[in-house]
Amino acid sequence: MATKDAPRVLVIGGGSAGLLTAHALQMLGASTVEELQKTIESCQVDDHRAGEDETMPIYNCKTEELMIRLPIPYNIRLKRRKFIRHITQGLDVKVNILQIRHSSGLTPLQYSKKIKEVSSDGKKATAVFEDGTSETGDLLIGADGGRSVVRDYLVGSSQSALADTPIVSTFAIAQLPAEAVEKFRHFGNRMAIAFHPNGYFTWVGKHDAHESTTPPGEWKFMVAQTWRPEDPNYDPQTMQREKALADAKRRAKEFGPTLSEIWQSIPDNTTCWHSRLTDWKPDELWDNRNGTITLAGDSAHSMTFHRGQGLNNAIHDAASIARSVREYGFTPDAIKAYEAEMIPRGREAVNGSRANTIAIHDWDSLLDSPLFKMGLKAK
Ligand SMILES: Cc1cc2nc3c(=O)[nH]c(=O)nc-3n(C[C@H](O)[C@H](O)[C@H](O)COP(=O)(O)OP(=O)(O)OC[C@H]3O[C@@H](n4cnc5c(N)ncnc54)[C@H](O)[C@@H]3O)c2cc1C
Repeated sequence: MATKDAPRVLVIGGGSAGLLTAHALQMLGASTVEELQKTIESCQVDDHRAGEDETMPIYNCKTEELMIRLPIPYNIRLKRRKFIRHITQGLDVKVNILQIRHSSGLTPLQYSKKIKEVSSDGKKATAVFEDGTSETGDLLIGADGGRSVVRDYLVGSSQSALADTPIVSTFAIAQLPAEAVEKFRHFGNRMAIAFHPNGYFTWVGKHDAHESTTPPGEWKFMVAQTWRPEDPNYDPQTMQREKALADAKRRAKEFGPTLSEIWQSIPDNTTCWHSRLTDWKPDELWDNRNGTITLAGDSAHSMTFHRGQGLNNAIHDAASIARSVREYGFTPDAIKAYEAEMIPRGREAVNGSRANTIAIHDWDSLLDSPLFKMGLKAK
């Protein structure tokens, strides 16, 4: 990696990890904690104001008895699109795929650039895009998500493959009828988790629900179920779209009355996603080509979502890269120090998330799971 004062950095991927890393490296806009809290809160799914004494209810999905109220102090629930739009601001980019930093700031680039190949000669890294164009920089940061092309290059495509977990999920973003919303407000209000003795997990949470502007009958909710199929060779491709929703509604008939009503009230034309949960953990230091290529966010550590640690770790990565660069400059030592901090942290988060995901789908191990013992804290 070049050590001159104005290196060119390519950040691949315009999700949270890429955009936050670009911000952190630019070291833009020193905000106070209060300013930051206000801005972040404005990107939420609802009008909630974060506070110290917040809790999340966890129910027995069959009896609807409250099992525990997990402390979740200063809980922030971000609406992804709003958050991404917000953190794109100030980067002076018209692109959500690639940002380039050089001495004059970030160069505006085109939308929808898709990286196809990466290479490095140990001094410069080059990204080749599907449209045949390419860009070269002193440092390339792969923040291109769970199926990262940059990771394929660093560790080889077979080592880079996502690992299956035994758990599958069904998700939908649904507009619920006003009566179901009213029931949910007494049950979880903002979000609720329930575990069924048969090994099902279900989540209902506000997704777009601004009381100040929208009547409850127009709010959107994210609903999810996860479970472990009995057939170890079960193929989620056999249960797509309307089949997935019908299957979730069938399972929800085993739930208590409120949760069952919420699920049954989802309009049948609601889009549903059904897939197997996967993850990828960084097992060891990779050859970062003399500090010219590294990873951040899900591309570096892709984890199951039940403990809500993915974005937290992506934010940690952005801060960690910026801290290393501040200490060592844009040098191979900075990337070495960043990876030495990030890789064990990412590995632990992926392992912990997987252990938790498996434990919570088994009624007997549920109460010993990290979620019940530690809540959503990282450790
Ligand atoms: C249901 C669910 C709930 C979650 N809940 C939480 C939670 O409560 N707390 C928490 O901390 N985390 C949570 N997470 C995890 C969190 O959302 C992710 O860890 C985080 O968004 C990862 O950000 P990222 O930028 O690394 O990846 P992504 O958001 O996937 O962004 C990757 C970017 O790279 C781009 N890209 C992909 N391929 C290419 C390519 N070939 N070329 C160029 N660009 C490319 C994509 O378009 C995208 O813009 C949850 C995840 C899910 C699925």
